[in-house]
Amino acid sequence: SRTPFIAGNWKMNLDHLQAIAFVQKLAWSLADAKHDFADAEVAVFPPFTDIRSVQTLVSADDLPIAYGGQDLSQHDSGAYTGEVSGAFLAKLDCRYVIIGHSERRTLHGESDADVNAKVKAAHRHGLIPVLCVGETADDLEQHGASAVPVAQLRAALDGVDAGKGLVVAYEPVWAIGSGKAATPEQAQQVAAALRAVLGEIAGDEVAASTRILYGGSVKAANIASFLREPDVDGALVGGASLDLDEFSSIVRFKK
Ligand code: 13P
Repeated sequence: SRTPFIAGNWKMNLDHLQAIAFVQKLAWSLADAKHDFADAEVAVFPPFTDIRSVQTLVSADDLPIAYGGQDLSQHDSGAYTGEVSGAFLAKLDCRYVIIGHSERRTLHGESDADVNAKVKAAHRHGLIPVLCVGETADDLEQHGASAVPVAQLRAALDGVDAGKGLVVAYEPVWAIGSGKAATPEQAQQVAAALRAVLGEIAGDEVAASTRILYGGSVKAANIASFLREPDVDGALVGGASLDLDEFSSIVRFKK
C-alpha cells in the first residue's frame, strides 16, 4: 500500500530564515494535531539556499519532515556555473528532488532528454525523483488529458530503473497557480493512465508501489476529493504550501 504524500513546492519563495521558522512551525502544528505520519508523509521543497538551514533544524530536532531540491544538474560536478549537483543535495540529507516541473520545462527550456538525464542523476546519488508531467491547455484540447503526460513519463524513464525510487506528479499546466484545479475524475483518469504505463515499463510491482501525486491549485478545501481517487496518492502543492495553516490542514486531510 502507498503512504499518501503531501509535498510543498515553495518555488522561489521564503529565504533561509523564513524557511527555518516555517518548518519549525509546521512541525509544531502537526505535533499539536497529533498528526500520524503513516496517514500522510510530508515533504517541503525550498530554494537551494535554504536547504542547509532546513537540514540543521530537521536533524537537530529529529523532525519527521522530508525535504529536497526543486531541481538538480544532470551532471555530477564540473564547469557548470550556477548548477547544483545531486551529490550536494544528497550530502544535505535530501530524500527527494523535483524534476521536470512545468516551470523548468517552459521558462528554462528543459527538454524530455534533459529530464531523463536528471532522473538518472538523481538515482546516481540515491535521491528519489518527484517527476513532474502534465499537459498544457492546448495539449488538452488537441490530444486529451493523458497523451502528453504519458509521453513525458515514457521519455523521462528511458533507460531508468524506476524501482530505484520514483514519485510521479501529474500537474496539468493549466491548473498550476490558476485557482482552477482539475476535477478529481480528471486527475484519476490521468493517474490511472500513468500507472498503466509504469506497469508496462517497470512491472506491476513497481507500478503498484509508486506514488502518483496530483498538483495544480490544491488547497485544504479540495485535497480530500483528490485523495479519495484510487490512483491519486497525494499532492504537490504550490501556493497553498506557503501558508502554514493551509498547508498543515492539507497534510491532515480526512477522506
Ligand atoms: P499551485 O498549487 O500554486 O497551483 O502550484 C502547483 C505546482 O506547480 C506545484 O509544483
